Amino acid sequence: MEVALVTVGDELLAGETTNTNAAWLGSRLTDRGVDIERIVTVPDQVGEIARVVNEARAEYDAVIVTGGLGPTHDDVTMAGVAAAVGVELEASEAARRWIAEETDYEPADLAPGTTELPAGARLLRNPEGVAPGCAIETVYVLPGPPSEMQATFAAIEAEFDGQSRYVETVETTEPESALLDRVAELRSRFDVGVGSYPGETVRIRIECPDPDRAVEAATWLRERVTIPENADEGEDQR
Ligand code: AMP
Ligand code: MG
Repeated sequence: MEVALVTVGDELLAGETTNTNAAWLGSRLTDRGVDIERIVTVPDQVGEIARVVNEARAEYDAVIVTGGLGPTHDDVTMAGVAAAVGVELEASEAARRWIAEETDYEPADLAPGTTELPAGARLLRNPEGVAPGCAIETVYVLPGPPSEMQATFAAIEAEFDGQSRYVETVETTEPESALLDRVAELRSRFDVGVGSYPGETVRIRIECPDPDRAVEAATWLRERVTIPENADEGEDQR
């Protein structure tokens, strides 16, 4: 399953808020075997949100949008998603009932926009806050505050899946440029995905659907590179 993430907020673009929602969703969905194909951050503008969501939903199996929910003037994500899907925003009876019956708030106390969703959307209850999310067609809209986003995502997580992948990590003290021939042979010999991440050492990430092949490939590479003293054998399942 191929998914795009769209994170909304001027503060993300300005670097005032770190985009932890993208990192959390990326890691969580990758663990489920989902392929994250795009992470896009857009400003709090209806037209920009609509354009990017529309492109993403045409291209990928699902789109997850976070941020910009709620009734304040700069929260326009629901309007952007409604425009992308080609429907109006409308007061949601399901959202009104959820607020009245399951939260500590009264619908009448809230600003009007709080319970407006794109027409035909399915309500996603927000267990940690007052601005609900929604799902419409293949677009899922989640609140921006990380605790609210994570709690709301729990209800839809099972709708996202993909093929399990196994990851093995090999660490080496050799520079990346020295490893090119061995990495090329690793890829052709074992037909695995290979990522190379330089830092103090170089971390080589080997990924494939077959756990035995992932281990074989990692063992083959470990025997052919200089590994740091006290290196752990990195292994983990995706
Ligand atoms: P909003 O969803 O725009 O009403 O933002 C509510 C709060 O969530 C603000 O403090 C935002 O900075 C924060 N927030 C929104 N999007 C993200 C994100 N992608 N990662 C981390 N925090 C976020
Ligand atoms: Mg905002």
